[in-house]
Amino acid sequence: MKIAGNIAALSPYVPGEQPKDAGAVKLNTNENAYPPSPKVAAALRAFDASALRRYPDPEFRALRARIAEIHGARPECVFVGNGSDEILSLAMRVFVEDGGAAASFSPTYSLYRTLAAIRGAKYTEVPLPEDFGWTDPGDAGGADLFLLTNPNAPTSVLYPRAAVERFCASFPGTVLIDEAYADFSGATCADIAAAPGNRNTIVMRTFSKSFSLAGLRVGYCIGPEDGIEALYKAKDSYNVDALAQTLALAALDDLPWMRANARRTAAVRDMMAGELRRRGWDVPDSAANFIFARPAHRPAAEVFAALRERGIYVRHFPGPRTGDRLRITAGTPDEAAALLAALAGTDVPPGGPSV
Ligand code: PMP
Repeated sequence: MKIAGNIAALSPYVPGEQPKDAGAVKLNTNENAYPPSPKVAAALRAFDASALRRYPDPEFRALRARIAEIHGARPECVFVGNGSDEILSLAMRVFVEDGGAAASFSPTYSLYRTLAAIRGAKYTEVPLPEDFGWTDPGDAGGADLFLLTNPNAPTSVLYPRAAVERFCASFPGTVLIDEAYADFSGATCADIAAAPGNRNTIVMRTFSKSFSLAGLRVGYCIGPEDGIEALYKAKDSYNVDALAQTLALAALDDLPWMRANARRTAAVRDMMAGELRRRGWDVPDSAANFIFARPAHRPAAEVFAALRERGIYVRHFPGPRTGDRLRITAGTPDEAAALLAALAGTDVPPGGPSV
């Protein structure tokens, strides 16, 4: 078959493994350890299957209005996607010129690079400093679109708001701030995106992490009205299905549930980070629902494989800036305990006692 050259040459994004074993301790894809709100379960039970005869509202007006209300934005400034990944894919089409360029920090969410390659766009990576903290990307090589994950993944580090705000104000192109993990940090730039004078900043959120709805596939973004209108122009007619619209609304009806789970998750994260540091691991302060940790004694790839053998799944990203670390999702206290116990028998000095 004839396949477009940029797709033939593409290295696809590889999602984390979904183990078949029901007993697996799954700390590899930053899913939420707790179920979604009971209001979501109730809305699912009450959903009338015969309503699926009809197409869903192509403009998801009820959901959009509720999101707008929560963020103090106008509904015209809100867009909803089939997961935030769809919004990223649309943004790459809508905000990047043919033959243009996108950019991001490195390391960051590796899907960005794949989406740029699918678009046939150039992709500039601005290396993060050693501690994965902020550095000013300037004009990022003249990119049309800068994808800024905050807190970043897989590093877990939160950039200072003032620096992000200065960058957005000076960057000539569009800045998309991917806040997939923001509910675990308490910090947000959503108000910058909702502000009337905003000309170039989009803030994106997902229901997949803090709302425990990764399987539902809903994400949204807030931004200047002309940018949001452009996303509407480029989207599929019915990109958010009827069930997803209904259940996302139910989830937004119970923000205290989401916030309580985010707090519980952050507590497990901080406990895990503290314990691993005590054992000599290098763990940057995390503002997300995962940590990005460098083992004290063994190469990360070995620790990854040993954990996997014990049914504990974490994520390892081979590569110069990421290969010496593991990204570990903060699960329940029991899951964290299982991980820490398994590591006590895994990350040991060569020939030495267990830590
Ligand atoms: N952005 C970041 C930084 C992520 O880690 C993820 C999850 N892999 C996403 C976006 C996509 O989330 P979803 O499509 O589930 O909304």
